Amino acid sequence: MAVNLLDFDAQGLTNWCEQQGEKPFRARQLLRWIHQRGENDFDAMTDIAKSFREKLKLLGGVSPAPTISDKLSDDGTRKFLFDVGTGNAIETVFIPEADRGTLCVSSQAGCALECVFCSTGRQGFNRNLTTAEIIGQLWQANRLLMQGTQTGQSSDRVISNVVMMGMGEPLTNFDNLIPALKLMLDDNAYGLSRRRVTVSTSGIVPAMDKLAAACPVALAVSLHAPTDTLRDRLVPINRKYPLAQLMAACQRYLEHAPRDFVTFEYVMLDGVNDSDEYAHRLLDLVQDVPCKLNLIPFNPFPNSGFKRSSRERIRCFSEILQHAGIVTTTRKTRGDDIDAACGQLAGQVRDKTKRQLRNIPVAIERTAGKAGEIRVEAHS
Ligand code: SAH
Ligand code: SF4
Repeated sequence: MAVNLLDFDAQGLTNWCEQQGEKPFRARQLLRWIHQRGENDFDAMTDIAKSFREKLKLLGGVSPAPTISDKLSDDGTRKFLFDVGTGNAIETVFIPEADRGTLCVSSQAGCALECVFCSTGRQGFNRNLTTAEIIGQLWQANRLLMQGTQTGQSSDRVISNVVMMGMGEPLTNFDNLIPALKLMLDDNAYGLSRRRVTVSTSGIVPAMDKLAAACPVALAVSLHAPTDTLRDRLVPINRKYPLAQLMAACQRYLEHAPRDFVTFEYVMLDGVNDSDEYAHRLLDLVQDVPCKLNLIPFNPFPNSGFKRSSRERIRCFSEILQHAGIVTTTRKTRGDDIDAACGQLAGQVRDKTKRQLRNIPVAIERTAGKAGEIRVEAHS
């Protein structure tokens, strides 16, 4: 079977070149052509011996997932849809800001973790993305974003940050994720700083430790609830790795992290997790973990059963945290006119989990306003 060179990080490419009887510096050359210059035509790689170029053509290629669509939002956000085969498509979002350009990258076709407020989770799960499919999003986005710029040279690159916050849970696709992260950091590839590459996880505790050892980058943890009772319902993986374990894992991660804080993400769901009482409980929970808090106004999708907290509620919640000295930001909703906002990424997933057929709780309502007491209603 043909080899896809996008599947290899520097070490993998060096090993592969050696297997072909080539010197390790060939791997470095290839890496630069493919990732720094965005080249997939071996004939253009002029400093590589012609004989090896011919061999490369026979053995494989640089094969990113084909682009299905490329949509531009009024606010400059761009959403790409890539075809990853057998009826599955994944989404990647570019978010331009004054001082940076962030690419939001997917790690799986769908997600098996079923967080109840997430469109990807509602869709079910098909499969892990390969390393080539993960890094291919960055490769493709760089090329597409550079089209129309003056020279098309690497100095025009606009992607300065990558967040693994697209479809899927990156830490349940660990083995394919790590080479992709290494390529993002590699000076011969994308050369991003560790502080500008963020893995967002719903809290896969053992994999957080593995990430710290294998490739420490900035960490974001999707908290969304300060009590186990509520988090068990919103983020079901909490039943396996409850909050005490998760907080301990965050502390351990910080010993290796390139930043001296963890970012906690907290989706603001009207009447569910946004009361003053929950804000105080959140303070209790994170008091020993150096952190920043990022409040995400809930982004609606059809039949979600949830509503976004009001601006006023988000402001009050945020103030309680800030008064206690925690840096708290509220995420601006970007790209919602093209369904590119957090949690709206749906792509196209051939669900293997039959999630759509099961009886799924779609509405969580607060009862008498007491924190931690919620009612789950199942709608089919
Ligand atoms: N699986 C990983 C990363 C992908 S989700 C994780 O859960 O962290 C990226 C972020 O978007 C997470 O914080 C997630 O909880 C949040 N999110 C999911 N659905 C959302 C929605 N409908 N509105 C706002 N944020 C959402
Ligand atoms: Fe998966 Fe993250 Fe969505 Fe949860 S929030 S279902 S972990 S993608």
